[in-house]
Amino acid sequence: MNQEMKCFGCGAIIQNENEKHIGYVPKSAMNNDKVLCQRCFQLKNYHKLQETNMTKDDFLTILQQIGEKDCLVVYMIDLFDFNGSMIQGLMRHIAYNDVLVLANKRDILPKSVKERKLEHWVRRQLKDQGVQAVDVIVTSGKKSMNFDDIYDAIMEHRKGRDVYVVGVTNVGKSTFINGLLKHYAEVEKQNLITVSEYPGTTLNLIEIPLDEHSVLYDTPGIINESQMTHLLAPEDIKKVVPQGELRPMGFQLNSLQTLYFGGLGRIDYLEGEQSSFIAYFSKNLKIHRTKTIKADDLYNRHQTLQYEIAGIDSIAQMKSYEFRLMPGKTDIVISGLGFITVSSKGGKVRVLVPPQISVILREAII
Ligand code: GDP
Repeated sequence: MNQEMKCFGCGAIIQNENEKHIGYVPKSAMNNDKVLCQRCFQLKNYHKLQETNMTKDDFLTILQQIGEKDCLVVYMIDLFDFNGSMIQGLMRHIAYNDVLVLANKRDILPKSVKERKLEHWVRRQLKDQGVQAVDVIVTSGKKSMNFDDIYDAIMEHRKGRDVYVVGVTNVGKSTFINGLLKHYAEVEKQNLITVSEYPGTTLNLIEIPLDEHSVLYDTPGIINESQMTHLLAPEDIKKVVPQGELRPMGFQLNSLQTLYFGGLGRIDYLEGEQSSFIAYFSKNLKIHRTKTIKADDLYNRHQTLQYEIAGIDSIAQMKSYEFRLMPGKTDIVISGLGFITVSSKGGKVRVLVPPQISVILREAII
């Protein structure tokens, strides 16, 4: 191979031997004078960082290094899976940085919920988690929602400094960066994105120049193992994880009644007066109501329940959570799958989910 051949994206010397090393191009793609290495190719076409070799230590190293810089941190969280998308201990590492929070995937929540209400809800949740933000913007990367506001806020708060975008995987960082670049098409036309290696790691960073002196960096995310998506067959993920607006389904439950969510989780109403349970899940997920006394049997016969989960063939393998409900409105969140808003005078519920999945109670979002 010609030793001088360089990737026209990042300048790395092209090689065909090692896929994990810089400058790799499969032999089959060597049919052009101008060659892009595989990672620049992926970046250009999908604006996607390869995150496969990311470890928790790598991730902490990145956060520590960002914490040592005078920069603006853009922290992306997922409105649909708020707790699952929080980076644990983030503020320990970036206590002195300015943090702009982007609350993404707004399109999944019902349109009827006012943006102001969502923003206030996010601010209260962030406060509970000890995250101090210079600003919070509700967005949908997929729908390019509020991109002008985001752009203005980044420019205002960065005060001439570099910007680092952080978030766990699946919050929608790539979609957002992709959308932002399309939105500012002139940036894309100049082919200004480059990729570099994160110092001290083998991880890639996307660099988008903001002006002559400063850059926006997209950082690799860490996988949150407790997401439902890691437990399902790829073809089922699209059906279960909402791709569009959630469908609310209301039930008046008496005590000792159960709701099943496509066999992926269930809620037993153990004690309390008749109460309203509004389930917010993907419209493809079937919800079954049954008597609690019959519920185990129904699951074990696998009759009407969709989607089987790896490693679970009997209800006894599910993990059980019990919660006391305070009078009023509360959300019971099954991380990454959906949530149920219960309005009651108080009571007791049990939630069964695969052991990897977390369940939390929170202030109602809607
Ligand atoms: P990353 O891992 O943080 O880079 O996330 P991706 O951009 O790859 O997105 C993860 C998943 O979330 C994909 O299935 C996207 O289609 C989806 N997604 C990303 N942004 C949005 C959004 O604004 N709304 C909705 N509904 N889905 C989104």
